[in-house]
Amino acid sequence: MPTSQTIYVDMDDVLCETARGCLEIVERVFGKRVAYEQLTDFDLGNACALAPEETAELYHIVHHPDALLKLQPVNGAIAVLSQWIVAGFEIAIVTGRPPATYEPSVDWLVREQVPYHSFTVVDKYGRFTTERTIAVSLSELAARQFVFAVEDSPTMARYLAEQMKVPVKLFDRPWNRATVEHPKITRHNHWFEIAEAFPG
Ligand SMILES: [Mg+2]
Repeated sequence: MPTSQTIYVDMDDVLCETARGCLEIVERVFGKRVAYEQLTDFDLGNACALAPEETAELYHIVHHPDALLKLQPVNGAIAVLSQWIVAGFEIAIVTGRPPATYEPSVDWLVREQVPYHSFTVVDKYGRFTTERTIAVSLSELAARQFVFAVEDSPTMARYLAEQMKVPVKLFDRPWNRATVEHPKITRHNHWFEIAEAFPG
């Protein structure tokens, strides 16, 4: 029997509209109105011109279970994942969220009825190295095999394409437009466009 093939799917701003949720918090808590298209820096604090302590507070608020559970799913994501599963693929959700958000993240996936096979927290940006953590390292991730990946992070897209030789469907977002050029990386505006590029 052939081993089943696995598709890597990021969570924030690929499955759920995290940045839009953050902008609501930035307006409510700091009284700052920032347009979505202005988010040209992957670092939200920089993109919204927040002070370091405001950025820390923003992350503290958005990683609270109540805020995480409020995030909206990205249009088309669930339908396309279901289609790939029917075609025989396994879905590995791979997030760079802090390990403490594991439970509310899984709660969100269940509530939104997102179909998947595994959920992994990866220390994508070297943030959790000092704590005892359930997060796996980038080199542990590199030992796994994926048919392709769906990501929005420029850093992760480059790591997947260059270090892991995994084709990347880069989900077009204002913060990844200027940065990534690689033969293995293709840019897509919508989940249905990704599904057309890879019908399963
Ligand atoms: Mg993301």
